[in-house]
Amino acid sequence: MPTIYSPLPEHPNLDATDPGLLGAVASGHARLTPEQGFELLTNAPLHTLGRYADARCRELHGHHIRSYIIDRNINYTNICTAKCIFCAFKRKGDEHDAYTLEYEELYQKIQECADIGGTQILMQGGMNPNLTLDWYLNLLNGIRERFPHVNIHAFSPPELIEFVNFFDPPGATLIDKVRWVLIKLKEAGMGSLPGGGGEIFAPAVRTKIGMGKCDMNAWLEVMYAAHSLGMFTSASMMYGHIEGYADRVHHMHAIRHWQDKAIADFGTGEIPTQIASDPTIKKPETGGHYLGFHSWPFQPDHTSLGRLPHYPTESDLENNLPFPGDVVAQLDGSGTKDMDERFGRRLRLAGATQYLRTQAVSRLMLDNIYTIGSSWVTMGPHIGQVALQFGANDMGSVMMEENVVSSAGTTYCLDEAVLCRLIRNAGYLPAQRDSKYDVIKTHAGADSPDLLVKDWSAHRTKRLHIEGEKQELAAQLTIGDSD
Ligand code: SF4
Repeated sequence: MPTIYSPLPEHPNLDATDPGLLGAVASGHARLTPEQGFELLTNAPLHTLGRYADARCRELHGHHIRSYIIDRNINYTNICTAKCIFCAFKRKGDEHDAYTLEYEELYQKIQECADIGGTQILMQGGMNPNLTLDWYLNLLNGIRERFPHVNIHAFSPPELIEFVNFFDPPGATLIDKVRWVLIKLKEAGMGSLPGGGGEIFAPAVRTKIGMGKCDMNAWLEVMYAAHSLGMFTSASMMYGHIEGYADRVHHMHAIRHWQDKAIADFGTGEIPTQIASDPTIKKPETGGHYLGFHSWPFQPDHTSLGRLPHYPTESDLENNLPFPGDVVAQLDGSGTKDMDERFGRRLRLAGATQYLRTQAVSRLMLDNIYTIGSSWVTMGPHIGQVALQFGANDMGSVMMEENVVSSAGTTYCLDEAVLCRLIRNAGYLPAQRDSKYDVIKTHAGADSPDLLVKDWSAHRTKRLHIEGEKQELAAQLTIGDSD
């Protein structure tokens, strides 16, 4: 199990780029304030961010190994009651390509994942009002029975909140009801929660882009309820649309705060060896917390949000107007849409530089979160590889299929050999990990997946099940010798 650090001292009077402060943050002796995080995100040189985020990453994860997992992303339904304007995946239910996978199709996908050494499935879907609690419980039981060694990483907080609305479980408060549902799902085999639906927490942004999706407090409290049950989760952020830079920092700060709370209230789950090895002692269900943070830029294709005018428009230039997201965004999340009438009407996409900057700041801000994941799925394999020098310690999963982000234009598909090659060529030893970030095996020998490939010019990633016409556009990726 990874080591988690206690809350660290802040030094609010120091400039964010003070080398002493950054050195202390990198070595795990100081914590950035939101103001300092904002200053870094908006003003620090890119190479400074990379240098200190990499130093922090090396402090936590060492100099040698960078990891990946073999799992499969299964989107069990695309029918959804929400109306997120950044989403090209959802269907109302009566379209020709609306779907809910049958159990047997799901089992087949998991079998294919297990056949290539997979240890986990990531299962998320739309918020589908037609599915009952029994449908989910039977599915989880069926998966656990057939694949007892595969962790079921499933159901993001917005799905959990909708489960409460759909199933009407007992409980005095919303979170009591979420806990009731979570206990049922956990008993049926659900292992951990993904951080889907995080987007941007700030209410002004969230209500504009994610109609019908739970708010920040509900999202964070669902995760806290899961942590109270000893479950591990991850956190996410999708940026590069209408939000301001301060919104990104506010988002990271909220996650750090709730991670402190989870660790203070439930511990880290590290049970003394003497107790852990004694079968007569019932182990406490404590220690749930966030294990990783993943952030990625919004992908605009085929989405309503992607059709907004890009900032700056001619009128913005003529009138010398700032990006409206930055006018509204506040580090405490208190910004409101009436602070700029153009808010929500301008798009500011994030490219590779913004991605690397944001990820580096996340590594430095989130001192109590063990893993920062590279987002090669949206940024492409080579920027994903560079991300290993900007604070990321994990390359995520091999990608056999993906339906949500790819609906919005991203179509990368990598296998284990390619992932290992990307990690090795970045200067590290590739290692397969499990769902708790413990290493299963390192790849040093000649039988490593990448070293077995004789001709990279002919290597193609094999794509498995393909859903929807959009995937016909998907290009297979070739990694050349120079990569
Ligand atoms: S992002 Fe998720 S919740 Fe939002 S519309 Fe798409 S499928 Fe539904």
